[in-house]
Amino acid sequence: MKYKKIALIAHDGKKPELINFILQNKEYLKSVQLFATGTTGKHIEEAGFEVTKFLSGPMGGDAQIAALVATGEMHMVFFFRDALDKHPHEPDVQMLMRQCDIHNVPLATNMASAKLMILGMDEDV
Ligand code: PGA
Repeated sequence: MKYKKIALIAHDGKKPELINFILQNKEYLKSVQLFATGTTGKHIEEAGFEVTKFLSGPMGGDAQIAALVATGEMHMVFFFRDALDKHPHEPDVQMLMRQCDIHNVPLATNMASAKLMILGMDEDV
């Protein structure tokens, strides 16, 4: 049973990078349950993965994922953020990151951190 739940989110400017990342880490990511914000999730499906899609980020998808972090139902978050662009849902993004910090849920906001998290995946935090 795939018990580990991982959320994948990428701002528009980082979606290609996220897809490259999941293809490079296919073996591990196929062994867990994947969740994503709406548009990111469509790209993930097109890349051949099973994923549960939430609302698009600006419409509340990040907030949905934050709620699961808060209730202990999301075990890890990969959020490839585009820090060079503006985002109307920045308050939701901040809330998601805050919830990860409050509940000690691993959060990677760029590819280098995400790679290290995958390497450490065998160890529980
Ligand atoms: P999206 O949302 O996957 O629906 O584009 C991501 C985000 O910007 O939070």
